[in-house]
Amino acid sequence: MSTKSVAHSLLTDEERAFQDVVQKFMDKHVRPIVADMERDGRPPAELLKKMGEQGLLGSFAPEEYGGGGGSLMTRAIVAEETARADAGLDATLFVNMSLVARHLIKRGTEAQKQRYLVPLIEGTASASICLTEPHGGSDALSPKTTARRDGSDWIIDGSKTFITNAPIADHFLVFARTSGENRRAHGGTCFIVDAGTPGLTVGSPLKKMSLRSSPTAEVFFDSVRVSDDQILGEAEKGFYYMLEGLDLERVFEGASNTGIAQACLDLAVSYSSERKVFGQALSEYQLTQDKIARMATGVEMSRVMFYHLIRALERGEEVTRAASILKLYSSEAAVEASREVVQVLGGYGLMEEYPAARLYRDAKHHEIGAGTSEIQKIIIARETYKDAAKSR
Ligand SMILES: Cc1cc2nc3c(=O)[nH]c(=O)nc-3n(C[C@H](O)[C@H](O)[C@H](O)COP(=O)(O)OP(=O)(O)OC[C@H]3O[C@@H](n4cnc5c(N)ncnc54)[C@H](O)[C@@H]3O)c2cc1C
Repeated sequence: MSTKSVAHSLLTDEERAFQDVVQKFMDKHVRPIVADMERDGRPPAELLKKMGEQGLLGSFAPEEYGGGGGSLMTRAIVAEETARADAGLDATLFVNMSLVARHLIKRGTEAQKQRYLVPLIEGTASASICLTEPHGGSDALSPKTTARRDGSDWIIDGSKTFITNAPIADHFLVFARTSGENRRAHGGTCFIVDAGTPGLTVGSPLKKMSLRSSPTAEVFFDSVRVSDDQILGEAEKGFYYMLEGLDLERVFEGASNTGIAQACLDLAVSYSSERKVFGQALSEYQLTQDKIARMATGVEMSRVMFYHLIRALERGEEVTRAASILKLYSSEAAVEASREVVQVLGGYGLMEEYPAARLYRDAKHHEIGAGTSEIQKIIIARETYKDAAKSR
């Protein structure tokens, strides 16, 4: 299932060929099992392994750790095409590859890369990133989870919630306050904690409206003992690493949202071309064409912007304001497209046997996860005033 898009001219020949491989993989190995994954609440381990074997997980990672040594764009291509097939699977891979693997590549020691990064790239392990807490996620620099020195070790106490992959994670990146005041970036430390470490427990999978094939749970830390070599990067700098990664995280969110919106458009076009009402195909009516035109506009605008921002990130440019604009716009476009595809399908849109209902449930997640729409608006306005002040 290929898509004609004005943005594809921004890809190299190699990236276009890679996209073709990813699309074929999704058709053959993912689309047929989406309902099973939603029922089981997790992707099968063999699927992640197969993706690893085919180079679809670590396409962007250094070759010395089993990666493909390709562009950041290859990861975005996998994100878009995975979300187009199943947004839950995309959420699991988003955490494994776009967040945890990327942090490990950037800050991990050689031993940490061998132990944690290589299995993520192979698809033989999963991971979680633990930031959000029960008392609030938007105010991410005010965790109640702490780590204190005990001899040469650290002791972590606290709890995290809404943690993607927690029920299947082999290791957890845990952000804890080790000094300093709330709302301050200094004084946070990121620890890598293995599943099964005494004192670390994972709650039952949370029942959720969205992303049902991606398991989510609470994680509890009760005097969890970790050593210095389990710190990612340097102590006290963990929140800086988290903040540094936000632009890229939001640009990848743009890729996921484009995939969901494209899936809505695909379904709306095929269904409306077949379904007859009052003796004519639904696609013949201008009220349907209005929906298709709006959906296609949202898809193209989101895709052009995320491609453009991936290229900017590859050049090392700072894209804070634009990344938040992309996250806000593309999530709203995906939510609108998911609402419209349900409408196009009429009663069948509400039946779980069609993907429209799943798309509707999944799209909504992206106005909340990885920084809510309100937080994106706050950033866009703040950065806009900042730019205006500079040019005065
Ligand atoms: C399925 C799922 C998976 C997730 N996976 C992870 C994960 O793997 N790791 C992780 O750490 N977190 C994860 N999260 C957490 C997610 O990042 C948070 O839900 C999100 O950041 C919002 O935090 P909150 O839910 O605590 O809402 P709150 O921060 O309590 O916000 C509640 C409401 O207040 C609004 N608000 C906040 N500040 C302002 C303001 N200044 N003005 C006006 N309104 C405001 C918000 O936009 C929101 O609408 C996940 C969440 C979900 C739903």
